[in-house]
Amino acid sequence: MSSLENLPIRDDLRGQEPYGAPQLDVPVSLNVNENTHGIPEAVALSIVERLAAAVVGLNRYPEREFLELRESLAKFLGNNLTSKQVWAANGSNEVLQQFFTAFGGPGRKALSFGPTYSMYPNIARITLTEYQEVPRPDGYELTPDFVAQAISKHRPNVVLIFAPNNPTGTAVSLDTVRTAYEAFDGMLLVDEAYAEFSDGASSLELLPTMERLVVSRTMSKAFAFAGARVGYMAASAAVVDAMRIVRLPYHLSALTQAAALAALEHGDLMLANVEKIKVQRDRIISACREWGLEPYDSDANFVLVGGFSDPNAVFEDLLAKGVLVRNVGIPGTLRITAGTEAETTKLLAEIALLLD
Ligand code: PMP
Repeated sequence: MSSLENLPIRDDLRGQEPYGAPQLDVPVSLNVNENTHGIPEAVALSIVERLAAAVVGLNRYPEREFLELRESLAKFLGNNLTSKQVWAANGSNEVLQQFFTAFGGPGRKALSFGPTYSMYPNIARITLTEYQEVPRPDGYELTPDFVAQAISKHRPNVVLIFAPNNPTGTAVSLDTVRTAYEAFDGMLLVDEAYAEFSDGASSLELLPTMERLVVSRTMSKAFAFAGARVGYMAASAAVVDAMRIVRLPYHLSALTQAAALAALEHGDLMLANVEKIKVQRDRIISACREWGLEPYDSDANFVLVGGFSDPNAVFEDLLAKGVLVRNVGIPGTLRITAGTEAETTKLLAEIALLLD
C-alpha cells in the first residue's frame, strides 16, 4: 500500500492535513460564508449563452491576460480603476497565493492579526514565507496604534488586514489601514472578501496614493458565485505586473472568464440579496443576544457567536437537525453564516430548542 509517509515530500509539509471545511449534504448549510441564495434564472441563461460560445473555441488556450474580464471588474469596482490595475485568479485564495509568491517567500515575513482567516498560514507555508499572527485585543477590534506597534515590533515585509475580518466579522477603519501603510515600507494587503456586506468605507479609495497597497475581493461571497472560482484584486499597475510574473500561463480558463463576464453583466441582480442577508445576520445577533449568548458585532455575512459552554456539542446537535455551522476553534464559539430567511428561521428555532 502506498502511503504519503513513504514519499520524499518536503519536510515542512510532512504530517500536514489538506485545508477545508466539511462538505456535507445537509438541508441548511451555513458553514463557509457563501451567499446561500441561488443564481437568478435570467443570469443563469446569460451565463449558459456565453459558455456555449466559449465551448466551441476550447481547442485554443484562453486569453492569457483576460483583458475583457479585467475591464469588466474594473468597471464593477469603480473608483476610476482601469483594467491594468485589476487582476483575477481562481478564487481570491489563488490571488493571495500569487501575492505571497511575488512579495513573500524565503527570508520574508508576513504579519496578520488573529484570529483570522486560517488559509493564510497555509499559503505562507506553501510559499516558504515566515508567518506571524499577533493576537487581537479583547473584542477583536484593530486600532491604528495597535497595528503600528505590532508592525514596528515585528518588522514584516507583508502585512495582512481583513476588512471585515473572518471569523470575527469585525470592521476595520480606513485610519487603521492608513496607519499600517505608513508604518513600514513593505506590501499591505487588505482582504475585502466580505466588503459588500459592510457599511464602512473600502480601501479602494486609498489606491491612488498607495502603490504598495493591494485590495483583494472575491465573487464567492456577496456575489453568489463561489462555485465559479473567481477572486480578484485592485492595486497599482506595477503590482499587477508582479502578479503576471508568478502566475501560471492561462490560469483562468475560457469557461471561467465567460461565466464571470456574464455574471458581471448582471451585477445588480447578483448582489440583490445582500441587504436581505444583512437583515438575517442582524436577526441572528439580536436573537442570540436575547438568549444570553455572546454574538460579536459583524460587518460580514456571518456571526461569531460566543457563550456556548460546549460548542462541539451544539455543532453536533445542530448537524443532527440538518443545520451545518462552523467550529473554528475559538473557545466557546461557533461561526454561523447568515442564510435565507427560511434557513435563519430553522437555525434559530433549533438553537432555541437546544438552549431550552
Ligand atoms: N479571504 C477571506 C477572508 C475568506 O474568508 C475567504 C473564503 N472563506 C477567502 C479569502 C477565499 O475565498 P475565495 O477563494 O472563494 O475567493
